[in-house]
Amino acid sequence: MSFKDLGLSDALLKAISKKGYTTPSPIQAKAIPKILEGKDVLASAQTGTGKTAGFALPMLHIITQKPFQRQRPVKALIVTPTRELAAQILKEIKEYSEFTDVRSTVIFGGVNANPQIRALRQGTDILVATPGRLLDLHSQGVFNMKQVEFLVLDEADRMLDMGFVRDIKKILALLPSKRQNLLFSATFSKDIKKLAQTFLNNPVLVEAERQNSTAEKVKQTIYRTNKADKTDLVIKLISEGNWEQVLIFTRTKHGANRLAEKLDKADIKSAAIHGNKSQGARTKALAGFKDGTVRVLVATDIAARGLDIPLLPHVINYELPNIPEDYVHRIGRTARAGASGDAISIVSVDEFEYVRGIEKLLGEKLESVKMEGFDQTDNLQDVLDKQAANKAQHQQSRRNNPRGGGNRGGGSRNNNRRN
Ligand code: AMP
Repeated sequence: MSFKDLGLSDALLKAISKKGYTTPSPIQAKAIPKILEGKDVLASAQTGTGKTAGFALPMLHIITQKPFQRQRPVKALIVTPTRELAAQILKEIKEYSEFTDVRSTVIFGGVNANPQIRALRQGTDILVATPGRLLDLHSQGVFNMKQVEFLVLDEADRMLDMGFVRDIKKILALLPSKRQNLLFSATFSKDIKKLAQTFLNNPVLVEAERQNSTAEKVKQTIYRTNKADKTDLVIKLISEGNWEQVLIFTRTKHGANRLAEKLDKADIKSAAIHGNKSQGARTKALAGFKDGTVRVLVATDIAARGLDIPLLPHVINYELPNIPEDYVHRIGRTARAGASGDAISIVSVDEFEYVRGIEKLLGEKLESVKMEGFDQTDNLQDVLDKQAANKAQHQQSRRNNPRGGGNRGGGSRNNNRRN
């Protein structure tokens, strides 16, 4: 099947060929015809499947079929959890709409709102937004959503994880009832299904390749070591392997900062990316990583989600996630687009239960390798006692120095995922 067979306009086909795409990805082949028919779609797809073009192309096709109004009210709204994802989606939309008259813009928090307000005041056909800034600027009367015909909720599961459920409900209540809805989510929890029922109309179900199959081309290895030796082991792997582009996952923002600093000291140029970093710092880190000036990007799960870094050769789990599905997302960052990749997990004695959970989800055992000079002599109880003591100390210092977390959006948040 070709893009032409999907019935997309010549202007879009020209942009697609300029991007160098020759065949639609499976999710595109399935979703595009349904969206063009005007159906609501519930799609299970994660980053790397081509899902952005899967919704952006038919949306652009539909929007360009009718003449534009002079005021350029927002016709299509794309809501997405993170700033990076929002910026990436806009970038893609701009590329696909290069040969059309469509106007698109993006709004997200963490940066000065004035340029965003100016862009909105000029009118935009497509608006990509994160939930908080969207509600904020809407409540200021900067734009209205009365003519929205097209809604995309992207990475809906992550939006719920990040506590955006109330914001999403508020947004839904502000939209006209007659519209086409698309919901993209990597996983389908009870909450996602519940949300889907509240606003999708007879949705067509579209599934990209099975969630766990990304793991197939990834070589997965475990190195067992003491907690205190993890950083040295990571340094040894990167230096001796001459690895040039490495994405490392930590569980906490603090841990990401600390590790990036230590790697820097060991002459491995690194940057951390997480929710506490300013937008400027995040963009700079990501750009450096892409152009090779930053060798290691240390990220938390939520920050890394949706980052478009193609063909990453190495992913390291400095700490394992306590949710097995997050492991699958993480290692899905390597071996994309058919290339092979390496996913390495540095596992301390207190993380064995996570290994078991991951193995159960994958239905296979992970290969364990020993690195010369690194033994695992930690005693589980000692490690757990030390963790409990650290946690108590941390809580005490927070009580003594309450600064508020700056979290917004309310809703239920899982502490382990608040990153
Ligand atoms: P996404 O899942 O939307 O984040 O897309 C992942 C990557 O695949 C992006 O870099 C896209 O530019 C690229 N891509 C999307 N569709 C295609 C296609 N049909 N052929 C080749 N690459 C594509």
